[in-house]
Amino acid sequence: MVLAAEEEAIVETVREFVDKQVRPVVRELEHANTYPEDLIGTMKEIGIFGLSIPEPYGFGAVSMPCYVRVAEELARGWMSLAGAMGGHTVVSKLILLFGTEDQKRLYLPRMATGELRATMALTEPGGGSDLQAMRTVARRDGDDYVINGSKTWISNARRSDLIALLCKTDPDADPAHKGVSILLVEKVPGFSISKDLPKLGYKGVEACELNFTDARVPVAALLGSDEGKGFAQMMKGLEVGRLQVAARATGVARAAFDDALRYAQDRESFGKPIWEHQAVGNMLAEMGTKLAAARALLLSAAEKFDSGQRVDMEAGMAKLFCSETAMQIALDAVRVHGGYGYSTEYDIERYFRDAPLMIVGEGTNEIQKGVIAKQLVKRGGLSI
Ligand SMILES: Cc1cc2nc3c(=O)[nH]c(=O)nc-3n(C[C@H](O)[C@H](O)[C@H](O)COP(=O)(O)OP(=O)(O)OC[C@H]3O[C@@H](n4cnc5c(N)ncnc54)[C@H](O)[C@@H]3O)c2cc1C
Repeated sequence: MVLAAEEEAIVETVREFVDKQVRPVVRELEHANTYPEDLIGTMKEIGIFGLSIPEPYGFGAVSMPCYVRVAEELARGWMSLAGAMGGHTVVSKLILLFGTEDQKRLYLPRMATGELRATMALTEPGGGSDLQAMRTVARRDGDDYVINGSKTWISNARRSDLIALLCKTDPDADPAHKGVSILLVEKVPGFSISKDLPKLGYKGVEACELNFTDARVPVAALLGSDEGKGFAQMMKGLEVGRLQVAARATGVARAAFDDALRYAQDRESFGKPIWEHQAVGNMLAEMGTKLAAARALLLSAAEKFDSGQRVDMEAGMAKLFCSETAMQIALDAVRVHGGYGYSTEYDIERYFRDAPLMIVGEGTNEIQKGVIAKQLVKRGGLSI
């Protein structure tokens, strides 16, 4: 699909940033597991943290197709950079869609510049898929909520000064989702980061365990003005999150495909470029076809998001297909590169370590299949 000229220019700016500033340094940052301070600084200057924040709170929001293409470009350079703006966008959308006017004015202008970073905290040590079984509780005490519980795997937690916390304000509610709310939590006394979690990929960006022990926030921290709406609010937010993860996967797949296509023309065996061996040519053909299909699915889901319709099925399909495709393409890129595919002096092994995150994060692919099947039945099939 074609973007408006000014949106195409934004994507082009990010593409140039990735080629000139990210790709030359990514291997070093990755292997040193270094937080990319300078690159994040440039992302703030480009306006990447404000892409979903319209005027008067920000500089103007872009369309969802433009947003996913920016995320895809970043991930093509380094998935960690796209990860650093993912949760932040979900939180900005949550505040925009459901926040009070005071919350919008308090947070969105600083979030748009990236001066204030935000993350979302859903997953708990006891489980991430079964959110309604969460144990983090915020009890009302006068004009405050008092929070107790813990969250795990929270991306960007050290660098984020605002956390959209999914918790129970009524732990006895039946059904359980009616007792779930979102609190906009700053780093108040009683909040602590207990651990940085070691991980296979997604290097440079932290994922942490968070603890809340009698952490007190004012009642005004409740997203919107009603308790018990948090589950539905977060499901809408996750549509954005899942499109973003699908875009990240597509970016990783593109990088792996591009590298494999180039390598297959440079590397020779038996007196010819390896792509001319049918087995390798077929692999490239399949990789390219799957990538094109993944990207088309992603863009069509993003386009539908902007129509204002419910897109949990479409976002789920994009997330499922793009992430499984990224995994396959990353593996095939290892095959095409032979021994070099296994070398830490090349980028291929990084794609292979980054791709699985998109299968798990933002709701596992098994959970996506559940969402998709339910919607297929409810909607009476695909409207194509
Ligand atoms: C690097 C990283 C960053 C992350 N960042 C964040 C973040 O910023 N914020 C956040 O809140 N979370 C974050 N997560 C957590 C992530 O969203 C969860 O790991 C994910 O939702 C799965 O939850 P779980 O790990 O508890 O697995 P579980 O829920 O324990 O699932 C284990 C397995 O059982 C399967 N399963 C469970 N229930 C069902 C079911 N009903 N049907 C079919 N299969 C099922 C799952 O698919 C999976 O295969 C991050 C994770 C990682 C690895």
